[in-house]
Amino acid sequence: LPLANQGVQSLSPYQAGKPIEELERELGISNIIKLASNENPFGLPESAKQAIINQLDELTRYPDSNGFALKQSIAEKFTVQPEQITLANGSNDFIELVAHTFASEQDEIIYSQYAFIVYPLITKAINAVAREIPAKNWGHDLDGFLAAINEKTKLIYIANPNNPTGNFLTESEIDDFLRQVPERIIVVLDEAYTEFTAEKERVDSFGLLKKYPNLVISRTLSKAYGLAGLRIGYAVSNPEIADLVNRVRQPFNVNSLAQAAAIAVLKDDAFVQKVAENNRTEMQRYETFCQQHGLDYIPSKGNFITIDFKQPAVSIYQALLHEGVIVRPIAGYGMPNHLRVSVGLPEENQRFFTAVEKVLQITP
Ligand code: PMP
Repeated sequence: LPLANQGVQSLSPYQAGKPIEELERELGISNIIKLASNENPFGLPESAKQAIINQLDELTRYPDSNGFALKQSIAEKFTVQPEQITLANGSNDFIELVAHTFASEQDEIIYSQYAFIVYPLITKAINAVAREIPAKNWGHDLDGFLAAINEKTKLIYIANPNNPTGNFLTESEIDDFLRQVPERIIVVLDEAYTEFTAEKERVDSFGLLKKYPNLVISRTLSKAYGLAGLRIGYAVSNPEIADLVNRVRQPFNVNSLAQAAAIAVLKDDAFVQKVAENNRTEMQRYETFCQQHGLDYIPSKGNFITIDFKQPAVSIYQALLHEGVIVRPIAGYGMPNHLRVSVGLPEENQRFFTAVEKVLQITP
């Protein structure tokens, strides 16, 4: 067989979880709940369901390649121009597209230790050079990022909040950073979880876009908007960047059901508010639970929390699985003692608390 490029050879396959039905069969239990992929626990919003049903008759046609109507609604919602938008098959797709557009073999791409796993994946897939900056308190060390910049640097990825740690950078930290990054370098600010951050703390990233022509904001409809299975994300940047990325994009990368559902749910403020509100209340319960039981956790502004069990956590993960609760081991991120738990509905979170108490043999 021909050899893949060196970067690809160094990759390990992405470890996706098994389907719930398969696990239930294997373990001989029912009622498994999944708190492992930072998904929306409320299920598909009615608004999206109706839009999908209305779209079914169109499925023999290709989707609108340029996503005209969806770009219009994103543009209206955030007061930007449709020419600034790139649509993607999930924001993972965008993370890949932007790397293909701006980086080649041997160029350097900067991201943080413990950053979202797709950044190293794509960097290696295109055989670029990864500059992984050691984390500071589990989060981004932006001074370390600045020190790593050189003439080969093409791209910087920052997730805010970050997955899997939930760390958050404030607007002034990001602003200070962007001011010092040369304009020839693209900075991708991945805001997959931004809707879970309290509004008064959120970064006005669209405001920053007006100051920094090299900034790209990446968002998704997989999390707060509940469309993970449809695969849809979008990026907003200056029009020249969007134009370049759009040249690389596959013509029909976003399917028509996803486009229709996204238009509906972007208008469904009530749904997103309900989701964010549940997340706030339930995150507080997780923190209280951890504090009461002396468990260390990383404070998170996302819809997940990462808990330090101070021992290899894979056996705890297995034991929780036998209690019917799937969480995410993150040894692949270099965090073997931690488990990442997605904040679910109140009764799901209670299942997790009860299971942890049983598994660790601690009294409630
Ligand atoms: N960015 C971050 C930080 C994420 O955690 C995720 C999902 N795990 C994504 C991007 C990609 O999400 P999607 O492709 O579903 O939009």
